[in-house]
This record gives sequence, structure tokens and C-alpha cells, in this order.
Amino acid sequence: MDSIRKYWKEEIIDELTHLQQILQKRSLVKADGGQSTWLHMDDRKLLNLSSNNYLGLAGDERIIKAGMVAAERYGGGAAASRLIVGNHPAYDEAESTLKQWKGTEAGLILGSGYTANVGIISALMGRNGIVFSDKFNHASIVDGILLSRAEHKRYFHRDLNHLEALLKGADPHKRKLIVTDTVFSMDGDVAPLEGLVELKDRYHAILMVDEAHSSGIFGYRGEGLTHHLGLQDKVDIQMGTFSKALGCYGAYVVGSQWLIDFLVNKMRSFIYTTGLPPFILGSICSAMQIVQTEQGRREKLFNHSEYFRTSLSRFGFRMDESETQIIPLIIGSNEQTVRFSQRLQEEGIAAVAVRPPTVPEQQARIRFTVMATHQRNELDWAIEKIVQVGREIGVIL
Ligand SMILES: *Cc1c(COP(=O)(O)O)cnc(C)c1O
Repeated sequence: MDSIRKYWKEEIIDELTHLQQILQKRSLVKADGGQSTWLHMDDRKLLNLSSNNYLGLAGDERIIKAGMVAAERYGGGAAASRLIVGNHPAYDEAESTLKQWKGTEAGLILGSGYTANVGIISALMGRNGIVFSDKFNHASIVDGILLSRAEHKRYFHRDLNHLEALLKGADPHKRKLIVTDTVFSMDGDVAPLEGLVELKDRYHAILMVDEAHSSGIFGYRGEGLTHHLGLQDKVDIQMGTFSKALGCYGAYVVGSQWLIDFLVNKMRSFIYTTGLPPFILGSICSAMQIVQTEQGRREKLFNHSEYFRTSLSRFGFRMDESETQIIPLIIGSNEQTVRFSQRLQEEGIAAVAVRPPTVPEQQARIRFTVMATHQRNELDWAIEKIVQVGREIGVIL
């Protein structure tokens, strides 16, 4: 026994050492105030250009209050899974609001976006299915496909021609699912949804979109990219999260009644898990109301994104096709990216180095995100520092 344990430990420590050597070892750093535009990390005050709290709602008093009211009324925990006795009344209210917001027949609120993707895909697809998935899709989509045991066809990032070739070559009798992020989390670029709808019709597939970074951001009432493009009746499955622009926690899936009925019966990460705490449902409900009416937040965010992106690109930073609030500076090597990130932190900017396996090899980057609640002069200050550090370590001339 003991020698087996010793062997395991050595192997694991070797692996950690290897990660350290290639500058891919991660560790937890205490971050206080990640909801705000300024935060404290390691006792240093930093401008927050790293959160997903795009609209600044994570600290919103109204949302916190609504959560507290729901907790007082319905309790601290759900006490069971939803199909047992955990389907407390706060669910009903939040799911009605969800359906109205998205204008769909049915909707379901789920645990995190991660468990949502894993559960939806593995419920719908089995050994005989084929999933066509953008190469840059989120890890939770990849894990859902693996768990489903379906055939996994990855198409080149946003490449409709490649996708079509794969669809053409596939067995016409198999169940086919096309799945994509609407806004890609590490690149800030946007999926070609119109083209995907055309292809799914032509090849009799079902289309699922992940609106994690577009829900609350696109569409007049923040419904998402699908509505922004007027495709809500064409996209079969819209999934998204409450954890990013909405500033809460949890996820949703909306679509036809038959789809939701099926998920309630077959989705294992929905069935075999405790219902969300009432606090979360209360806060989600409030966030959905705020996000539909406060268009000013979206306008501010768009203006800030545009400004930050064009200002930095003028200095020669590589940011590829970003057109949203997610603005990556693609550096390449882990070494230079980690140095860039460290230097920015010393200058007072929270800028996290994103490395493989989150992004492809030699495409390490700093992933900046702007917030509606940033001030223009804070962005100007940050741009100046980023340019200065970029020159200092040779990322730009
Ligand atoms: C963040 C994210 C998720 C996971 O959502 P959580 O609620 O954080 O678990 C899923 N998909 C995409 C595209 C994401 O960016």
C-alpha cells in the first residue's frame, strides 16, 4: 500500500514541477472586491480589467436585497433536488421572468453554466450522434460532448466552409448537433450565427448556442446575440449564464416545451443535484428585470469596449478579431505573457495571463475585459500603462 501511495505522490509532484517549468502552474490568489472596478489582490490596489461583471451588476444593492428577501422567505438552502422537494416558489417566479425575457415557450434555470453544458449535451446526444463544435468553444461544451460519447467533429474557428464539409461527409441518418459560443470567451469575437442557421437547416441538424458572454450584452433588452440578429425562432437551444453580465450565479436553457420536458427527465446534472438556494433565484430574478430596462449600461459598455480596443490597436498590439467587451492582447509565449501580467500588476492593473490549455499553444495572452462602470479616465490611465509595459518588454515597438 505504502509504496503505491509513494509512487503516486512522486508522479503527481513530477507533473506539478513540469507545469511550473513551462510556466503553466496556477495557484489561487486572494482577490477582494472582484465585483468592483478597483480590487485588492495580495494587498495591492488594482484596476479591475479581468472580471466578467461586464455591466457592473454583481455588487448591485437591488440584486443583493432581492436575494436576501428570497432567502428570508424561502430559506437558506433548497433542501433537495428540484424533482424531490427542492422546487421552491422562487424558481417559479424566476422561470416566468426568464420565459418573458427570452420570448420562448419554455425555460429552465440550472446550476452553473458548466453543469448546464455538460448536462444538456449529454442528455441530447448519445453514441449514435455527431456533435459539430467550434474549435474555440468553452471547455464545458467539450466536456459535455466527451460525456455524451457522441462523435466529436471540431470545425476550424468560425469556419462555415469547414463545418459544411464535415456535415456533408456525415451519415445523414445520424442525429446531429451544431454547438457554438456566441461570443468566444478568450477571443471576444462573434460566431457567424446566420451562416450556422443556414447550415443546420440544410443538413437537418439542431443548433445550440452558448450566450455566456452575450446574454445581457446584445439585443435591445439584453436578450443575447440570437435576438440581436433576429434569430430567436431559428436557434433551437439557447443556453446562457447568470454569472457574467447578470452578476449572479447559475445558468438557463430556453427553447421549445418538448425540449425542456426532455431535459427535466434526462439531464443528469439537473436531476441528481440539489436545487439552487432561494437567495440565488431572488437575485437572478432582480438581475433579469434590471438588465431589460437599463439600456444605458449596454451603451456605456459598447463605447468603452470600442475605445479601449481602438486605442490599444493603434499601438500595434495583436488582438485578432475581438469586437466585444473581451479584448485579448495576444502575446505568444508563456514567459513573455507572465512577465507582462506581473509588470502590469506592479503598475496597478489586474491583468491575468491566460495560458494553454485554456488557449492554443503559443497563443498565451492577457485577457482584458471592460465594464460599464469604468470611468473613461481610468481606461486612459490603463492604456498608458499597458503601452509603457508593452514597450518595456518588447511586445510592441
Ligand atoms: C463561463 C462560461 C461557462 C460556464 O459558466 P459558469 O456559470 O461560470 O459555470 C460556460 N460557457 C461559456 C462560453 C463560458 O464563458
